[in-house]
Amino acid sequence: MNIGIVGLGLIGGSLAIDLKAQGYSVLGVSRQVQTCEIALKRQIVDEASIHLNLLAAADLIFICTPLAAIVDTVTHLIPHLAPATVLTDVGSAKAPIVQAVSSLWPNFVGGHPMAGTADSGIGAAQADLFVDKAYVLTPIETTPPKAVERLEKIIRALRAKPYLCRPDAHDRAVAWISHLPVFASASLIAACLDETDPETLELAQALASSGFRDTSRVGGGNPELGMMMARYNRDALLNGLKIYRDRLNDVIKLIDDQDWATLEDELMETHQARPRFVRE
Ligand code: NAP
Repeated sequence: MNIGIVGLGLIGGSLAIDLKAQGYSVLGVSRQVQTCEIALKRQIVDEASIHLNLLAAADLIFICTPLAAIVDTVTHLIPHLAPATVLTDVGSAKAPIVQAVSSLWPNFVGGHPMAGTADSGIGAAQADLFVDKAYVLTPIETTPPKAVERLEKIIRALRAKPYLCRPDAHDRAVAWISHLPVFASASLIAACLDETDPETLELAQALASSGFRDTSRVGGGNPELGMMMARYNRDALLNGLKIYRDRLNDVIKLIDDQDWATLEDELMETHQARPRFVRE
């Protein structure tokens, strides 16, 4: 089976590495010649090109470009495709992408692997990025069940865990656990930079350790990805950010009032709730 990948960056490159290891023949298309050369040299793909016609021989294609380029890429890809070709994407927001692409190519299944790092580009591609991670698929009424089955089989081969849900349900859920954290974390870094005493700032930077590494990781990641999350999942993200702001105001009030008992109760609640989101 030939698998096509458009956008040989962190996600596309990592998919290519694992799919090739599983014995699939991987055809890669990226924007820059240099990226294609690196992908061939590192044997991440079997063939690479900056031209989409390379993918005429692909049975299933992952679109792994930034969110803003997905619909345009599909439009330019369609003239090269046989009707049976299954298309999927890996974009972090689903409703606007699924709506636009499904009307262009019915044999399309929206997807989103819940895996990543703070790095980007072909240099960040790594093996086993998706192992034990959720991989969301968002079929709609018109999505052919056979296309979903084929994709699920590949996702299981990557040792990821497929989850099926509606595109809008996906967007509301990831607003809480993926998109809001990016902006909470970015605001944390920005707030630290607001320290006006240079000596204190320098000392804070010298002392920052694992706690700051964990809480600043997603806010210090790929800026284009964060901006796209806000642009393509605006309503759900705004809702989350406003509720988060209210929570911060509650904390400010409790500390200002020196209401230590209520503060401890609230921290006990979050201490007990965390394992419902994160299994370690
Ligand atoms: P990335 O590392 O920047 O990779 C995207 C690659 O796409 C770039 O390296 C670029 O390759 C290529 N590209 C850009 N425009 C293109 C175009 N018009 N045609 C062909 N190739 C193009 O970004 P990423 O983190 O892998 O994100 C890619 C997608 O995955 C996004 O839709 C994002 O929402 C989704 N996603 C990201 C994460 C994450 O944590 N990073 C997690 C899950 C899903 P060149 O080097 O050739 O310019």
